[in-house]
Amino acid sequence: MIFESFPVGLLACNCTVLGDEETREAMVIDPGDEVTRIVKRLNEQGLKLKQIIVTHAHIDHVGGALKLKRLTGAPIFLNENDLPLLQMMNAQAAWVGVQTPEVAPPDEGLADGQIVGLEHYPAQVLHTPGHTQGSICLHFAPLKLLAAGDTLFTGSIGRTDLPGGNFDQIIDSLHSRLMTLPDETRVLPGHGPATTIGEEWQSNPFLQRR
Ligand SMILES: [Zn+2]
Repeated sequence: MIFESFPVGLLACNCTVLGDEETREAMVIDPGDEVTRIVKRLNEQGLKLKQIIVTHAHIDHVGGALKLKRLTGAPIFLNENDLPLLQMMNAQAAWVGVQTPEVAPPDEGLADGQIVGLEHYPAQVLHTPGHTQGSICLHFAPLKLLAAGDTLFTGSIGRTDLPGGNFDQIIDSLHSRLMTLPDETRVLPGHGPATTIGEEWQSNPFLQRR
């Protein structure tokens, strides 16, 4: 497995490249910015991009998706509940103080329970609304790996004060969908360092065992 996760853009969104050494197929999660760098990594590894997965439609996660699609031909996947946020890209760019990136509706949705990812590295979509209405996480069960978007961070959880945010809902999503995963599940948050479900049970002030 080829696996790279690196922060991109002003808000340091963790962009993940996952590739199959055998088939040379790859997926990219959250290409928020620095598309040239992402494409360079794909090319250096000899990978062909098959899927662009966007965990939610905040500018720092989706900002580079269309550019990456144009350069690689790979389809963009996004949960349809975040389409209103996608249509607010001018406002989102103003919040951050950056130029508005060009965006387009996704090629495919991301429904709860849907299987995406690569032939040898499948992932199940977990719809986890709360940070945004269309927030999803990707659970790579065989890899014991969770791409958590902005739902769960090391020692914290996603903010819920932006349009589409709902605190009770994110707490419910965390308890019903993420914290039920095995303790050893490695968590890759949308920002900051990686963690595990077990470590978050121990130390995350927002999560107490019920
Ligand atoms: Zn976000």
